[in-house]
Amino acid sequence: SVKTSGKRNYCFFDAEFSERLRARHQYEMELRYAIEHDQLVVHYQPRVSMANGITTSMEALVRWHHPTRGLVEPSEFIPLAEEAGLIARLGERVIDKVCAQLAFWARHGRHVVPVSVNVSALHFQDADPAQTLASCIARHGIDPGLIEVELTESSMMGDSETVASAIRAIRNMGITLLVDDFGTGYSSLSQLQRMDFDVLKVDRAFTAQLEQSREGTVFYTAIITMAHSLGMKVVAEGVESIGQARVLKSLECDEIQGYFVSRPLPPSEVQPLAPQVSFA
Ligand code: C2E
Ligand code: MG
Ligand code: MG
Ligand code: MG
Repeated sequence: SVKTSGKRNYCFFDAEFSERLRARHQYEMELRYAIEHDQLVVHYQPRVSMANGITTSMEALVRWHHPTRGLVEPSEFIPLAEEAGLIARLGERVIDKVCAQLAFWARHGRHVVPVSVNVSALHFQDADPAQTLASCIARHGIDPGLIEVELTESSMMGDSETVASAIRAIRNMGITLLVDDFGTGYSSLSQLQRMDFDVLKVDRAFTAQLEQSREGTVFYTAIITMAHSLGMKVVAEGVESIGQARVLKSLECDEIQGYFVSRPLPPSEVQPLAPQVSFA
């Protein structure tokens, strides 16, 4: 249906636009199906102590085992889940899977370390993550001390009372609270301390600067000093080299996570006793 010149561009754009809408709608339907039909899988990435190289915790990172596209990364579907109102349900599925996995490892006599789960800011709007956590923990009969929650600074923005009380409820269950991607948002350290966060995970953009420029080191030095004086631990995200690890150790960073230690692994490849990493 090609029309005369002036109108043609408009029609062409229109067709392209509706095709994109259709594709998006299709993808959304697939994601909805995936969440309800167990196509989500969780991989685990260790976080290690700089004092002794021992794994202190593992982060749960979701992937979508798509029937034709293979293993899809979260950056490709988490934003869609958030926009489509599916994030609370997705979060619930991930939390349930993590609790089931912890219970499985415990039943098989495996050495179990805590697992941290990422909770979206939008999860708080659509549902109550504290309730989700409580019911999954109870259903699988696991120790709440084995669950940690990662929240980005944007979750704490706006100072909404609903969010604050949900965070308090999570805290009161004995769950460790971590600030994710620290340095990319606008929260103040004192605000985070007031909300009882235990750990700051510094965004990997700052880690990447460590051996590149003076600013990276300056930023880390300031954050570590302030966090420690407020009683919080510091985790460096995205550590990829021994050089970065050494600088972080000299700055008294508490823990590191990143490809230097390990990539995120499927549950079957997670070692019962994770290998000790040496920074010497
Ligand atoms: P995040 O929570 O900051 O997770 C860290 C991301 O950095 C992960 O990407 C991890 O694979 C990647 N990473 C770890 N070490 C390195 C490194 O040394 N170098 C580099 N370049 N990257 C590294 P991933 O798994 O693709 O997840 C991306 C984001 O998706 C996460 O960022 C988190 O915001 C979100 N996400 C993942 N799983 C979930 C989930 O279950 N629920 C929610 N709401 N969000 C999730
Ligand atoms: Mg995280
Ligand atoms: Mg992060
Ligand atoms: Mg991130």
